[in-house]
Amino acid sequence: MAHTTEPADTTDTADTADATETAETAARGGTVSLADLEARAAARGAASGYGHDALIVCDRLVRVYSTDGIEVQALQGLDLLVERGELMALVGASGSGKSTLLNILTGLDVPTAGSASVAGCDLLNMDAATRLRYRREIVGFVWQQTARNLLPFLTAHQNVMLPMQLRGGGPGGRRARKSRADELLDILDLAHCRDLRPAQLSGGEQQRTAIAVALANGPDVVFADEPTGELDSSTAEQVFAAFRRVNDELGTTVVIVTHDATVAEEVRRTVAIRDGRTASEVLRRTEVDEHGRESVVAQEYATIDRAGRLQLPRDFTEPLGIKERVLLELEEDHIQIHPDRA
Ligand code: ADP
Ligand code: MG
Repeated sequence: MAHTTEPADTTDTADTADATETAETAARGGTVSLADLEARAAARGAASGYGHDALIVCDRLVRVYSTDGIEVQALQGLDLLVERGELMALVGASGSGKSTLLNILTGLDVPTAGSASVAGCDLLNMDAATRLRYRREIVGFVWQQTARNLLPFLTAHQNVMLPMQLRGGGPGGRRARKSRADELLDILDLAHCRDLRPAQLSGGEQQRTAIAVALANGPDVVFADEPTGELDSSTAEQVFAAFRRVNDELGTTVVIVTHDATVAEEVRRTVAIRDGRTASEVLRRTEVDEHGRESVVAQEYATIDRAGRLQLPRDFTEPLGIKERVLLELEEDHIQIHPDRA
């Protein structure tokens, strides 16, 4: 087991440096002030870089709409990290800020404050040319309204070809583009729709064609806003299956936005948005018991934001009469939260 001790543990080194500094400050006769600790925590944060290895990083994202002197805070400091290769869902009630977030992540809109990056592209600082390239090559999108995804006068195959033609100069020329379009239609089980126009396709086939269009230029991530909103549940199930296949076979990261909480059963990770912030998440994993039986375990977690803030669910706080403050107690492996009985 010698190999486990070999790699230099950088965290340890950083901690030791911190401890030394603290000791020094103490030796100088001063106690460590809150400002000192805050500065140090900030430096530590910057060194490890919030979400430095994540594909999507939203850091305290704010979007305020002002119309006729009325301000709507659609996003109120939203933090979100998505790893490369994830298949995840963002759920939230209507008006919680889901579409606002997607418009920012797809490069259609710019946030008021905070930062957002996708595949290393800084979404707040892109010139027009970079933004266009970003929208053509880095991200793909599927909207709820099928009419927004497909051109009615082109066949399914021609619709999938279009983004590749617009991008131009891709490898292999026209023949390569044609065969890539066929390949994508195959993966999405649409070979039989190749030469049909959108009006000749069912709702589910139209949305699967839209997924193929979104994948045409091999994006890092595909975003879908309520992609099954206009479909019945069994057709919706097929569309989710298509997203799963794309994620499995092509490794494309997939982010699905929906108000339908049952989507949690279709993906491995579901993040809930409430009032323009991420509030909780559900992770699903497959467990195998001692008899080799597989079962899916779903666990709900509360999210802790970058400042360490945690939102306690009202179902928990109300019965205990928790209002303005709580007592915290650190135990060896957990934290206890007690109502203030004073
Ligand atoms: P969701 O997609 O979760 O239903 P949205 O992101 O569309 O939520 O909206 C979040 C909030 O921002 C809502 O209160 C909505 O009315 C408001 N909003 C969205 N777009 C605009 C806009 N263009 N102008 C003004 N307010 C907007
Ligand atoms: Mg919406």
